[in-house]
Amino acid sequence: MATAAAARKTDAKALPVPNGDFYQLVELLTADELALVKKVRAYMDAKVKPIISKYWSDDAFPFELLPSFKELGIGGLGYEGYGCAGGSQKLFGYVAMELARVDPSMCTFFGVHSGLAMGSIYLDGSEEQKQKWLPQMARFEKIGCFGLTEPLIGSGASGGLTTTARRDGDSWILNGQKRWIGNAPWCDLSIIWARDLADNQVKGFIVENKTTPGFSVEKIEHKVALKVVQNGQITLKDVQVPEANRLQGGNSFRDTARVLRMTRYMVGWASTGAQMGAFENTLAYTQSRQQFGKPIASFQLVQDLLAKMLGNLTACQCMMLRLAQLDDEGKLGDHHAALAKAFCTAKARETVAWGRELLGGNGIVADYHVGKLFADVEALYSYEGTYQMQNLIVGKAITGIGAFV
Ligand SMILES: Cc1cc2nc3c(=O)[nH]c(=O)nc-3n(C[C@H](O)[C@H](O)[C@H](O)COP(=O)(O)OP(=O)(O)OC[C@H]3O[C@@H](n4cnc5c(N)ncnc54)[C@H](O)[C@@H]3O)c2cc1C
Repeated sequence: MATAAAARKTDAKALPVPNGDFYQLVELLTADELALVKKVRAYMDAKVKPIISKYWSDDAFPFELLPSFKELGIGGLGYEGYGCAGGSQKLFGYVAMELARVDPSMCTFFGVHSGLAMGSIYLDGSEEQKQKWLPQMARFEKIGCFGLTEPLIGSGASGGLTTTARRDGDSWILNGQKRWIGNAPWCDLSIIWARDLADNQVKGFIVENKTTPGFSVEKIEHKVALKVVQNGQITLKDVQVPEANRLQGGNSFRDTARVLRMTRYMVGWASTGAQMGAFENTLAYTQSRQQFGKPIASFQLVQDLLAKMLGNLTACQCMMLRLAQLDDEGKLGDHHAALAKAFCTAKARETVAWGRELLGGNGIVADYHVGKLFADVEALYSYEGTYQMQNLIVGKAITGIGAFV
């Protein structure tokens, strides 16, 4: 593949190195935060980018990367104590952006484990549960997943879960199915959200995948987006879970929603990262690709699309940065996270589509790192609550009228 660097060498005047941080947001990080963000970027560029397209094309997870990924020290970013990486929500967001800049699947793997699974225990677990699970999860010794969506219930999960939990002495009996669960085909533990038959409330349970009778997972095949992430359909057949594994602070869907608020925030950053990767890869390509005897970057219509890509990306970065401030001040509401998730993923769809277009035929080849982002953003747009559901959350907040059904 021709590179922009090669083109720059042949030009009398050096072309600028593609940089998706046009408003220099990186200057808003502390020295320690910047060091971690740089470490993550160097890792993603050196270790992940060269090999990830092959894994993506093969629908496979790069287990070979896990030992070095653990060394980044980002397990439990944003959570205090329990061996977690800690740090601000702003730092958590920047790291998510850097992961997705190279590969939204690796960002999703991280988001499911560190955000959804660890976040459920961090936000809804008892002190004992946090002590027991979070340190080993922060070290990536135990990997988690989050089972909310069902084969027949997606957007309507808040009131419609059909997976049931029945108290039986010191245990609970779980029955039902979960669909789309990231990491489920190979991870160690699942947070399963089920409706308590006694009070009809949604409760969370920690289920150990590999040793619990009645728990089985089938991998979802033939995805066309986020192909590196292994998604599973979980079946729970009379699965017995001790009361000690019921999330002690998870007593209704409101407690589930607190976890989703945090991870929707992260998807806003992830979709911004995908735009950053698409912009930088596309710009480099247009600087090196020659047509009519000139780099295609020299054409006005090409520059128009590049500027539009950068406008979307920069708008999302600024929006996410303000959201990070609200989060760090404890002011982040569901409606704030929902607006950012909807807006940034919708803008990301535009941005990656323009990038794909500017690569011409090479835009549909995964190795060029734009077509892959184009496909992956489709999943970001729909998961963690679809565009419509986010806008309904915003709509209720601004009008005072719920319009979900
Ligand atoms: C790659 C991937 C990874 C995922 N990972 C996980 C995971 O780890 N854990 C987990 O629990 N789930 C996961 N999900 C599930 C995801 O959150 C759901 O797919 C999502 O919430 C949408 O649900 P659905 O697919 O059932 O779509 P549906 O709910 O069936 O929606 C279909 C369409 O109808 C629209 N719609 C539905 N209701 C309304 C309404 N009231 N008004 C207007 N429009 C409406 C939706 O917006 C959408 O456009 C994942 C999904 C994907 C694709």
